Amino acid sequence: MTKLEALGPVLGRAGVDALWVSDPAGVRWLSGFSSAEDGKVLVTSQGATLYTDSRYTVQAAEESSLPQHIARPPATYEHAAGTLRGLRVGFEAESLTVAELEDLRVAWPDSTLVPLRGLLGGLRAIKTADEVAAIRAAQALADEVYAEVRPLIRAGVRELDIAAEIETRLRRAGAESAFDLIVASGPNGAKPHGHASARVIEDGDLVTVDMGAKLRGYNSDMTRTVAVGTPSAEMKRVYNAVLEAEEAAVRAIKPGVRAADLDKLARDILTGHGLGEAFAHSLGHGVGLEVHEAPGLRGSSQDVLEAGMVITIEPGAYLPGVGGVRIEDLVLVTEDGYEVLSHAAKEPV
Ligand code: ZN
Ligand code: ZN
Repeated sequence: MTKLEALGPVLGRAGVDALWVSDPAGVRWLSGFSSAEDGKVLVTSQGATLYTDSRYTVQAAEESSLPQHIARPPATYEHAAGTLRGLRVGFEAESLTVAELEDLRVAWPDSTLVPLRGLLGGLRAIKTADEVAAIRAAQALADEVYAEVRPLIRAGVRELDIAAEIETRLRRAGAESAFDLIVASGPNGAKPHGHASARVIEDGDLVTVDMGAKLRGYNSDMTRTVAVGTPSAEMKRVYNAVLEAEEAAVRAIKPGVRAADLDKLARDILTGHGLGEAFAHSLGHGVGLEVHEAPGLRGSSQDVLEAGMVITIEPGAYLPGVGGVRIEDLVLVTEDGYEVLSHAAKEPV
């Protein structure tokens, strides 16, 4: 089934005849056009059209097999108006700006605009074989770069220098950092989303490195925490608790498992070690054209795992003023279970 064929029934259930796609990840997913932030896709029962402007005439023709219309708004909207007369047209409430919505209302007076949420995100959560291959390649590169940079993580080196080394190597390999990567040492490890700072790594620190490669539009995401010298008995205990929770959650992955149950499984293990409060975020997330996408692996999630999803499992424990641990693997949900895509070693602490 093509992506458009999969989208048809979803639009029907949402009660719309057409969809105006403005979220760059959705535009790229449907069209293959890599400058998707400067593109839109209109989906109707007749098919899909890619809209972009004259800077991209050649690139769009090379990258996308969709019919293309080259124009800037408002000419873009006027072109679509005839097709959409009398139709209910869905738009993506999470990504369309209020200004764009006002312009669409003016350009399409005979259409009914319907706000929708999470519609393409739900479809994008199940990866095609090509998408899995792209994510696998991004993660393989991240594994390689991590292995090259791992020897630099030692006393006397700044967090920033490790981050710069990772970024440079990703760039040289034709990729880029998928997100503002995290190198957090010693007490900085207690900030789940702290960035690399000028702090000099000290003997006895745990160092958390959270990194991803973005290659051909697809992302990877992985975290390792390593010891420099001999960490405190307390931090060793925290590390082993997080590792236990992480491995247990990975082993439980298979189609049909509720994301909320997986989050609970890891959380219960950490709670058993007195670290429930210290696990201050959700268990994981889907990864693809976006670093964070559906499904959401958290207590409030309604998502159920399906074969073809690529997700992270990333429990952590953060002790303010002391330090922190996070271990994150990138995992493909398969027909009969799972396959871990991140291969960097999880070193004993
Ligand atoms: Zn991460
Ligand atoms: Zn993550």
